[in-house]
Amino acid sequence: MTGTKLNINMLPKVRGKYKIAEPLRQYTWLNVGGPAEVMFFPEDEEDLRNFLLNKPQNSEVFVIGGGSNLLVRDGGIAGFVIKLTGAEFAKKTLQDNILYCGAGCLNFSLKQVVVENGLGGLEFLCSIPGTIGGALRSNAGCFGGDISKVLEYARVMNKNGEILTVKAEDFHFGYRSSDFPPDWIILGVGLRFEKTDVVEVQNKVAENDEYRRTHQPQGIRTAGSTFKNPEGNAAWKLIKQCGGDVMQFGGAKMSEKHCNFLQNDGTATAADIEKLCDKIANAVKQQTGIELELEIKKVGQE
Ligand SMILES: Cc1cc2nc3c(=O)[nH]c(=O)nc-3n(C[C@H](O)[C@H](O)[C@H](O)COP(=O)(O)OP(=O)(O)OC[C@H]3O[C@@H](n4cnc5c(N)ncnc54)[C@H](O)[C@@H]3O)c2cc1C
Repeated sequence: MTGTKLNINMLPKVRGKYKIAEPLRQYTWLNVGGPAEVMFFPEDEEDLRNFLLNKPQNSEVFVIGGGSNLLVRDGGIAGFVIKLTGAEFAKKTLQDNILYCGAGCLNFSLKQVVVENGLGGLEFLCSIPGTIGGALRSNAGCFGGDISKVLEYARVMNKNGEILTVKAEDFHFGYRSSDFPPDWIILGVGLRFEKTDVVEVQNKVAENDEYRRTHQPQGIRTAGSTFKNPEGNAAWKLIKQCGGDVMQFGGAKMSEKHCNFLQNDGTATAADIEKLCDKIANAVKQQTGIELELEIKKVGQE
């Protein structure tokens, strides 16, 4: 990060915690990248609102979820990085056919409530790394499901600290995308489910976990699928066909188990990863004419 612009003696008084020049690599699955100028961990929604209303004008805010879809660049992120770790953001409540989850809930942590209560239709979500907030933002999905198919509503906070309840159709979801306003912070979501036999749900969850264990690399520093699948094609096939599966840049390479999963061997920088992605995308473009689009989100400064 080039020079601090925030005056750290003038940060709004909050109940949560600040961390100055906090290295972000530890908050991301890829484990690369520079620091956050200031990281803020709000205690609860009211603390977040107070912060937004009193933060320095024009200062940037970025929300990090589980960091499982992020490539934080080596220069870090200027302004504030917010992480929703307070207990209120991890709340889960069941009412009628809706499961409400705070945006900071890890998707993995839904497994228990989904299985014990037979919440059919939400099994897919339990296997996706990251948080509910990140899943909504990217319309995360797998095994034929995605957030758009189960979302009833989302509670969000806008930059003026107002809380809005937004209907699913207002997000205009697409494949791993939504037209979510960049300055909204997701507070929580209401997810629809169908009451289903507990054993059936349990089996589905176990089946999904088993599929990942056998078909996807485990225990590596990755952000999942690196490129989106182009219409009617599979990114991994194009990467393999064009030799991208054996390309390497510094400590960055593609996984031998699944060549659309990028892998940091522990020594990669964000620049290594960016260069590898560019090299692969160029090879695919030259050899097939198809433009691969990144699924991982690049954030911060070079
Ligand atoms: C091993 C592995 C397997 C994966 N498999 C899948 C898969 O099957 N399907 C799939 O879709 N993805 C998959 N992913 C990618 C990733 O897990 C998802 O995109 C996930 O939903 C990202 O959530 P996150 O909380 O980690 O978000 P982050 O990576 O932290 O952030 C992603 C985006 O969400 C925004 N965001 C996060 N929280 C909030 C909030 N509260 N308010 C506003 N914006 C917010 C961030 O600003 C950023 O723009 C995989 C990743 C890994 C590492």
